Amino acid sequence: SLSLRDVHLAFGRHQVLRGVDLDVAQGATACVIGPSGSGKSTLLRTVNRLLEPDRGDVLLDGRSVLRDDPDALRQRIGMVFQQFNLFPHMSVQRNITLALRRIRKLGEDEAAAIAREHLDRVGLAAKADARPAHLSGGQQQRVAIARALAMQPQVMLFDEATSALDPELVKGVLALIADLSAQGMTMVVVTHEMGFAREVADTVAFMDAGVVLEAGEPAAVFESARHPRLRRFLSQVL
Ligand code: ATP
Ligand code: MG
Repeated sequence: SLSLRDVHLAFGRHQVLRGVDLDVAQGATACVIGPSGSGKSTLLRTVNRLLEPDRGDVLLDGRSVLRDDPDALRQRIGMVFQQFNLFPHMSVQRNITLALRRIRKLGEDEAAAIAREHLDRVGLAAKADARPAHLSGGQQQRVAIARALAMQPQVMLFDEATSALDPELVKGVLALIADLSAQGMTMVVVTHEMGFAREVADTVAFMDAGVVLEAGEPAAVFESARHPRLRRFLSQVL
């Protein structure tokens, strides 16, 4: 399980997270929705310690991650961004084997076998030797997901993973994320795809001005929102 407890974070004098609380049970998927600038990306970055909270705690299986070695932590928490961040000068397979070899210290053959297994899982076994630039955006994002999964993370974080994709490529990537959810991966998914949140999330959390203003089961959040701000947000995006 993953829990954020009263997480505060400021950039200089700009208070961006003002006491975030969020609980994601083992194997559950939390979708985070909310207006631009509300702190969704900042929240994800505090979970894998790309940012350090000023106050509060992040717990993985009940244990604070703030004392862990950040590199070790990032092996346990995979993250996928809007921009896929693949290395352009390396083959798809090498993009995946790099961290397996450098961080997990696997030999070339073992790393290659794991890379192929995960490329197969995202339907791209045939593209192992291609350069990222020769793949569609949707395929590149699936490679980025395969790369994260190859590290066998306990938790996956997605930050608007489909926002940079052409509309016709969005579905395939969302289907892959939905599959992971169904397979019991613990996930926090920041998304503008309300249909996806509604169908896939166990919990939907609405962020506004640096706090989770309302969280609950999708039906409760989408159909009987309590806060006027959430109702206004939904009326704009649905
Ligand atoms: P969006 O939906 O547009 O992605 P978001 O909810 O992810 O928005 P964040 O990216 O978390 O929002 O940003 C929250 C606030 O923090 C914004 O006002 C942003 O300008 C500010 N911010 C984010 N990163 C930094 C930084 N590195 N330095 C200073 N301010 C930052
Ligand atoms: Mg963001």
